[in-house]
Amino acid sequence: MHVVELRFECFDNTTITAAERAINGLLEAYRANGQVLGREFAVAFNEGEFRVRLLLPEKSSLAKRFNSPWVNYALEELTQAKLLHPREKYIGQDINSEVSSTETPSWQLLYTSYVHMCSPLRNGDTLQPIPLYQIPATFNGDHKRVIKWQTEWQACDELQMAAATKAEFAALDELSQCDSDLFRRGWDLRGRIEYLTKIPTYYYLYRVGGESLAAEQQRPCPRCGNTHWLLETPLLDLFHFRCDNCRIVSNISWDHL
Ligand SMILES: [Zn+2]
Repeated sequence: MHVVELRFECFDNTTITAAERAINGLLEAYRANGQVLGREFAVAFNEGEFRVRLLLPEKSSLAKRFNSPWVNYALEELTQAKLLHPREKYIGQDINSEVSSTETPSWQLLYTSYVHMCSPLRNGDTLQPIPLYQIPATFNGDHKRVIKWQTEWQACDELQMAAATKAEFAALDELSQCDSDLFRRGWDLRGRIEYLTKIPTYYYLYRVGGESLAAEQQRPCPRCGNTHWLLETPLLDLFHFRCDNCRIVSNISWDHL
């Protein structure tokens, strides 16, 4: 991932409120299209211009050709707020983050965790994140629904990892049960992405608990009951199960490995 700074200059009298609203609108639009990662943006005002540092999946993430209709609209709104189109200054590569996938994968999956800022769409051959703007818009011109699903998945993951409140159990159900709201939404998005990209796209179903390793190995696919979904060698060292019928991958409970 890459760090850039955007600078917004005023070309006429404006108010800080109007400028901030326009800038935040643009950042939200970029985020909903996967062009900008993360959730919080510190916009600083100094010497007549606004500056914000952003994390991008690729150096070219803000190129016009990737813009959604909402991003283009938000860029026009800058003019209304008397701001020039932003100038982009490249800061450097983020040393803590994954490199985006550039090859076409043989399969892909929806996979995230509360520590991952990158795209939840992953190359199934390498696990590298695939920038969302690189695939056709999933719904209504961008990828807002995928980002929203990811945000909620991460919130549940953080609650269950903290294991400090009663919400832990409800959160764990959302991640690990195939009748949960998060599953249904994510699994539908998976289907939409597969339809749009023509690449087999799987959903990762989280698994903890269970009685023993032996019992885990006999665990059937929770969606269709398929008992032949255990793989001889785990995919990417993470996924021990794959049901091709249901397009689900899962793991042997982390408690028994
Ligand atoms: Zn199945």
